[in-house]
Amino acid sequence: MSQSKVKAKKMGVKSLYQNLDSELNKSREAKTYKYEVPVEGLQGGVVQAAGRSQVMLASNNYLGLANHPRIVEAARKGLEKYGYGLASVRFICGTQNIHLELEERIARFLGVESAILHSSCFAANEAFFTALVSADLGETDYRDVIYSDQLNHASIIDGIRLSRIAVKTTDLRAYKHNDVEQLKSWLAEDQAKDYRLSVIVTDGVFSMEGEYANLADFVDIAKRNDALLFVDESHSTGVLGATGRGTPEHCGVHGKIDVISGTLGKALGGAAGGFIAGKKVLVDYLRQKSRPYTFSNSLPPAIVCAAIEAINMLEEDNSLVEKLHQNTDYFRKEVQRLGFTILPGVHPIVPVMVGEASIAQDMSNLLLDEGVYVRGLWYPVVPKGEARLRVQISAAHEVEDLDRALSAFQKVGKKLGVV
Ligand SMILES: *Cc1c(COP(=O)(O)O)cnc(C)c1O
Repeated sequence: MSQSKVKAKKMGVKSLYQNLDSELNKSREAKTYKYEVPVEGLQGGVVQAAGRSQVMLASNNYLGLANHPRIVEAARKGLEKYGYGLASVRFICGTQNIHLELEERIARFLGVESAILHSSCFAANEAFFTALVSADLGETDYRDVIYSDQLNHASIIDGIRLSRIAVKTTDLRAYKHNDVEQLKSWLAEDQAKDYRLSVIVTDGVFSMEGEYANLADFVDIAKRNDALLFVDESHSTGVLGATGRGTPEHCGVHGKIDVISGTLGKALGGAAGGFIAGKKVLVDYLRQKSRPYTFSNSLPPAIVCAAIEAINMLEEDNSLVEKLHQNTDYFRKEVQRLGFTILPGVHPIVPVMVGEASIAQDMSNLLLDEGVYVRGLWYPVVPKGEARLRVQISAAHEVEDLDRALSAFQKVGKKLGVV
């Protein structure tokens, strides 16, 4: 966009507010406005909301750790022993031994050398692309290339955008969702281009579909092409694999991913925080160059201690992961038995397909009256005509909770002619 093309007349502050208001009204009319339904009290398998008890089917609280007694206790102890906050970024005076301990524990859990905490996975993803891709490593004339799944998370898309604005030496090739054939053919085609660095980027699990990337293929392709493989495991760490080590474990390639990003805001406690994990030299470099790390505050001790406890729990035994997998199998089987169509898979994200946006909207509202808290997704978040309710199962659910949700689905589904 060149400066000379700006033709609209000066808006002024008053008109700005008027225009914002009319934009918001447009989105209310188009039913794309996002309303928040407050949870009254604790997050959990069953919550209080909209004036009644609700089976919670919309949270990323996969292991039920968001208010697990051990996690709350660890956070309390962390608060007492290490205080409320550090009032500093990591490299000035915001590093405590617990930050280093958590980084080591994350790395060991994921089977890599090292890890670096960030305030969120969003920040971690931004850090990776802006600090590492097209980094000035002493060469003068070079181009890098990123191969990115079209359905990758917004934070990956923004991280790539930001890095491409900062340094104009990165090419982006967004391949069709999970299309490894297209990825392979592009890599072959690009052999002739003499790229300095090739990076392949994928979500481990895609949040709208609950599908995973077949990482065995990706590891193989990356190796054959000497490309760096980056996988965002936000929806998978603590969720997939027999011991909760994520998509790599599920696909039989644990420890073989070059770079893993993830969040502490989902299965690993649900509060906040993110990380990048991989080779020590790469993590050391990020500690020097990541701007969200260098210029943003250190994670609060309560969160750090609770996240260490979450990893303790995962390493002690598989009981929570097993319960999550059993609950997921049960819900997937039973909801289909009632006649609903779901996207097939193994992940606790279970998209229940209803077709039109208006049905998804009516259905989620009616379910709330019946004591089921679930959110609908429709265009433009998912393709037209593929509106869905995105159910998310948790180890915090008991079979009775799932049964209660299933009968509500049956009742409301019949009423709306979905089943
Ligand atoms: C949730 C999510 C994020 C963002 O994680 P935060 O820690 O909440 O910033 C990033 N990537 C993916 C794939 C996610 O699902």
